[in-house]
Amino acid sequence: MDKMLGVVFPGDKKVEVKEFPIPEPKNGEVLVKVKASALCRSDMSLYYGDSVLETDESEESIIPGHEPAGIVEKTGEGVKNVKEGDRVAIYLALGCGECVYCRSGYKMFCNDFRCIGFDLHGGDAEYIVVPEENCMKIPDEMNYITAAVSTDAIGTLYHAETKLQISGKDKVVIFGIGPMGGAGIMVAKGLGASVIAVDLDDSRLELAQDLGADYTINPNESNVLNEINKITGGKGADAAIDCSGSGIAENQALDCAKPHGKVAFIGENKETTIKPSKQFIRKQLEVYGSWYFPIGQFSEIADFIVEKDLPVEKLVTHEFTIQEAEKAFRMFDNHETEKAVFVFN
Ligand SMILES: [Zn+2]
Ligand SMILES: [Zn+2]
Repeated sequence: MDKMLGVVFPGDKKVEVKEFPIPEPKNGEVLVKVKASALCRSDMSLYYGDSVLETDESEESIIPGHEPAGIVEKTGEGVKNVKEGDRVAIYLALGCGECVYCRSGYKMFCNDFRCIGFDLHGGDAEYIVVPEENCMKIPDEMNYITAAVSTDAIGTLYHAETKLQISGKDKVVIFGIGPMGGAGIMVAKGLGASVIAVDLDDSRLELAQDLGADYTINPNESNVLNEINKITGGKGADAAIDCSGSGIAENQALDCAKPHGKVAFIGENKETTIKPSKQFIRKQLEVYGSWYFPIGQFSEIADFIVEKDLPVEKLVTHEFTIQEAEKAFRMFDNHETEKAVFVFN
C-alpha cells in the first residue's frame, strides 16, 4: 500500500511507469490522491529530454504533470485550510511566498519560481504532495477532468479575456483552435461575445462550432482579414487572441483589431516581425501577453465554468490510464489527440 505508480521520462521520447514510495506530506503540505492529470504541450521538452538528460544522473527523475486534480488523502502538520476529503485542483507554481508577486498570487513571476511537474514531482502519478496553498478547492458540480483542464487551458484564457474586458458587445477573433483556443471560445461565449474562430484544420473548425463559435475561417480557403472585415461590417474586431504562436496569425491578430481594439498573445513564439506604427501605434491598440492566471482567480474561474455550464470535457479527445503513459505521450506528440488526460480510479 505504500507504493504508487508514476511516469518518468528517461529522455529521447522514452516513457517509463515506475514504482515510487507514496510521499509523506511534511509541515504545511498535503497528500493528494490524483484523479485526473492532463497532458500539455509544455511537457514535450521533458519528453524529448534534450537538455534535461545532461543533468546529474544521480538526481531522481521528476514526475511530469502540471495540470492535476484529485482528493486530499492526508494533511501534514500545521495545515489549516485544507482537510482530508477535499476535492482540489492543483496550482502549478511555487514561490518564496514573500515577494510582491507571490503575495498578489502571481507566483510564476517570483524569483524562486518552481513548477510542479518540472522542478518538483507532478501529477502523472497516483499521488502527489503539494503545499497546502497550492490546493484550489473545486465546486461539487465539477468533475476531476474538468478541474484538471481548468488549471491551465480554461484558467489561462479566462485570465486573458478578463484582461481584455470581453463582454456581450464584442466580436472576438481567436486564432488557433487547439485546447487553448477551444477554451478561449468557451470563455468568450460564456462572457456573451460573438466568436470568430480561425484555424487551418477543418476538424478543429468543426470543434470550434461545437464549442459555440459563431463564424469559422480557414485561411487556406479564404482571406482572413477580408472575412473578418465582412463579418464586422468593416469595423474590425473588438478583440483578437492568438493561441497558435504563428507569426502569421499574430500579425493577423494585430491587423484585424479595430482602433482602440485589444489583442492578447498566448501561443508561445520565440520571434516574429511586426509593424508597430501601422499595426498598433496608429490604432492605439492595447496588446497583452498573457500566461497562466493568479491563484486567487481560480474560485472565480471555477464558478464561471459551473454557472455558464462550459462544456470543458469537449476539449478532451482521449483518456488514458497511467499504465498507458507511453502510448498517451506518443499519440499526443504525434498530434493524434487534442487534450489528453490520465484518469485514475
Ligand atoms: Zn500546461
Ligand atoms: Zn516570491
